[in-house]
Amino acid sequence: MRYFCTVLGSPIHSVLMEDSFLHKGLRKKLVDELRIKGIADERVLAAVNQIPRHLFMDSGFVHFAYKDQAFPIAANQTISQPYTVAFQSELLQVERGQKVLEVGTGSGYQAAVLVAMGAKVFTIERHRVLTMGAQTLLPRIGYRPRFFFGDGYEGLPTYAPFDRILVTAGAPEVPEKLLGQLALGGRMVIPVGSQDGQRMLLIERLSETHYETTEHGDFAFVPMLKGKE
Ligand code: SAH
Repeated sequence: MRYFCTVLGSPIHSVLMEDSFLHKGLRKKLVDELRIKGIADERVLAAVNQIPRHLFMDSGFVHFAYKDQAFPIAANQTISQPYTVAFQSELLQVERGQKVLEVGTGSGYQAAVLVAMGAKVFTIERHRVLTMGAQTLLPRIGYRPRFFFGDGYEGLPTYAPFDRILVTAGAPEVPEKLLGQLALGGRMVIPVGSQDGQRMLLIERLSETHYETTEHGDFAFVPMLKGKE
């Protein structure tokens, strides 16, 4: 399949965004690798198999798109490692039609995975340039989350409650407002710790006042910062 895209800021130049047999083959290998590393949710694996990750990266990194590694994107941020995206998506246990808030749009790749799994996705990012990039790319390749430029610490009170909340930046602590925006019976997945590393937490809201937290291993994310840029 070929996608056509107009580069931001230069509408007369348009670049060909190709998803070739080579890309598809590399993607399938990546899915096999994720399976070996323990990802078992077929809906997550199907989403990874479907989404052209190379289109989410700066062109210089295209050849690395299907390695199981994080890579630099604009504004000094990263597109998460595929294993991390798959791990968080699996832990979230998203059902079709559920409302999901993602904090940290970044490249938009994780948001595309959640859309591919049938969720109604609301994604928020504190760097305007990243929101704009993802907002341009995703609809062109068929993924339509709702994009918000703002501070994820505030969540999106207008659209709450959310069945699922996924934080894709390392938080120093669990943001109080996000807990409040989680639906009863909802699940939040959030890496919490210092800049050197975080524990992946799953927080389940059992009642109005009762939350249960479990830990799911060590990860390294870019930091969740306050405010917007
Ligand atoms: N989900 C992204 C991963 C991006 S890395 C992807 O699939 O590519 C984490 C992102 O979180 C960065 O883009 C960073 O700017 C953003 N971020 C950090 N703190 C934030 C906050 N308070 N609100 C919204 N986004 C935040």
